[in-house]
Amino acid sequence: MRGSKKRLMSLEKMVGKYTNDWMGEPRMNRVIQIAKQLKELESEVNQLKKELMSIQKICEHEFQKNDHINVCTKCQYIESLYW
Ligand SMILES: [Zn+2]
Repeated sequence: MRGSKKRLMSLEKMVGKYTNDWMGEPRMNRVIQIAKQLKELESEVNQLKKELMSIQKICEHEFQKNDHINVCTKCQYIESLYW
C-alpha cells in the first residue's frame, strides 16, 4: 500500500509539473499580448496627440481663466500664466 501511495504522489508531482508548465505558457503569452497592446495604444495616443495639436494650432482660442492657467473653451488648449 505504501508503495502504491508513493507512486501516486510522484505521479501527482509529475502532473503538477506539467500543469505548471501549461499554466505558465498562457501567462507568458498574455504578457506578450499586453506588451503588444501597450505599444499599439502608445502609438494611438501619439497619433491622437498629434491630431489634437494640429486642431489647437488652427483654433482661434477663446480662453477661460482657470486658477493659474488659461484654458481654451473650444479646443481645451492650456496656456500657463507663468510662462
Ligand atoms: Zn482653442
